[in-house]
Amino acid sequence: KSGFVSIIGRPNVGKSTLLNHVMGQKIAIMSDKAQTTRNKIQGIYTTETEQIVFIDTPGIHKPHNALGDYMVESAYSTLREVDTVLFMVPADEPRGKGDNMIIERLKQAKVPVILVVNKIDKVHPDRLLAQIDDFRTQMDFKEVIPISALEGNNTDRLLAILKDNL
Ligand code: GDP
Ligand code: MG
Repeated sequence: KSGFVSIIGRPNVGKSTLLNHVMGQKIAIMSDKAQTTRNKIQGIYTTETEQIVFIDTPGIHKPHNALGDYMVESAYSTLREVDTVLFMVPADEPRGKGDNMIIERLKQAKVPVILVVNKIDKVHPDRLLAQIDDFRTQMDFKEVIPISALEGNNTDRLLAILKDNL
């Protein structure tokens, strides 16, 4: 069984960190500096029976120039190319305009969207629950998975859900 999954979200939420963790090696470029993932980067996760192609995307922001516009559209273009979208948001920052802009595009997509709330190592559980409740008021997500991509918390559960949906 196989499928395509893209990871989208604002810059710096941990998209590349998740891909690196899943692949167990440094494939995507990780950085504190936003916009270091210039184009779609793929990692192929394989077991004996499953294959999941992960597409890391440039952070979605309000573009200020042609390169920014190209990167943002390249992230959105994955919505037409994949079987599942992981919409990643950080647990430690409130929902902002950037997230709302992405949510409007996700609502138009025909693909199932899983909300991945990352960086749970940085917040108190109450704050995490409030963050999840808040995002749920905006859109129906197929699943909501809190993780720490950095520490690898709950990433096995995320993978299990992706495998179930192949
Ligand atoms: P991207 O722009 O969405 O691809 O974000 P990156 O993967 O480049 O990560 C941006 C920053 O967030 C880096 O400094 C990462 O180390 C950090 N980061 C990513 N995931 C986590 C996490 O789960 N917990 C914490 N504390 N930091 C994280
Ligand atoms: Mg990145």
